[in-house]
Amino acid sequence: MAFTLKLAGALAGSVLMASAALAQGYPERAITMVVPFAAGGPTDTVARLVAEKMSADLGQQVVVENVGGAGGTLGAGNVAAAEPDGYTVLLHHIGMATSATLYRNLAYQPLEAFEYVGLVTEVPMTIVARKDFEPTDMASLITYVKANADTLTMANAGIGAASHLCGMLFMQALEAPIVTVPYKGTGPAMTDLLGGQVDLMCDQTTNTTEQIKGGTVKGYAVTSAARLDIFPDLPTVGEAGLPGLEVAIWHGLYAPKGTPTEVTERLAASLQVALADPGIASAMAELGTAPSSAADATPAALKAKLESEIARWKPVIEAAGVYAD
Ligand code: ASP
Repeated sequence: MAFTLKLAGALAGSVLMASAALAQGYPERAITMVVPFAAGGPTDTVARLVAEKMSADLGQQVVVENVGGAGGTLGAGNVAAAEPDGYTVLLHHIGMATSATLYRNLAYQPLEAFEYVGLVTEVPMTIVARKDFEPTDMASLITYVKANADTLTMANAGIGAASHLCGMLFMQALEAPIVTVPYKGTGPAMTDLLGGQVDLMCDQTTNTTEQIKGGTVKGYAVTSAARLDIFPDLPTVGEAGLPGLEVAIWHGLYAPKGTPTEVTERLAASLQVALADPGIASAMAELGTAPSSAADATPAALKAKLESEIARWKPVIEAAGVYAD
């Protein structure tokens, strides 16, 4: 018995020493930052901005890897199953919270499978359509969609994506069941919207700003509480009489469960350095968003956000009765 206890103590000690040693030299090689959506989309854009600055701070490359599919759950599942050594991290968004309810058979538990690094940014969404779509403003869009729902298509990045959530709220508010067209991310969905293959989409400003400003897609409304400086003419969903559509797409950085605390703390410190960079602030401002504060770019703030967002969206999803399985 005494021997077993001694052995267990020695083993625990050596695990602790190994993790401290790992953290001391960390990082010694490139880090993979998984984005659970296709390249060229909004989550990808945020990840690449952050990865570049974190690479400079950590002295090792942070390489973005796009693993799109199943509304973000494929990439998140890969990271949940990855070695918890600090060399694989996940940059995900609000879908981490909604997928907890949308998928009743997820291979991982969003609240259990990860260590938290910190919040990254919160991005408003926009309701957009192909540029030759008939309605000219939000009021005429609402009337048109209600009258023609069964002839329309709406792009999204799969069940669990932010575009899915926003689209679901839009259809619910208008009582307009529209056929959805899923993509591996809204980067490729935007390509089809530009080409006129789909009619409508809800997507982050980080993917729609350039197109709305350039007139290559039509912008109708923003899902923020107040109008955005970059689109002073676009009404908020609240102004348009659809307050239930207000939604902010928050992004967070995670590591697989079991990643040593010293490592997640180093990553959080690096995330804070990256987000404090004036270059990030101006790049994000041009896209209608801003970096999270140093207080929010922490493991505790991300954990609290995920917990509160799972609780917030669970009843909404259950009321809609839409599930992925
Ligand atoms: N904007 C996408 C979403 O709907 C994801 C992406 O491609 O970043 O969740």
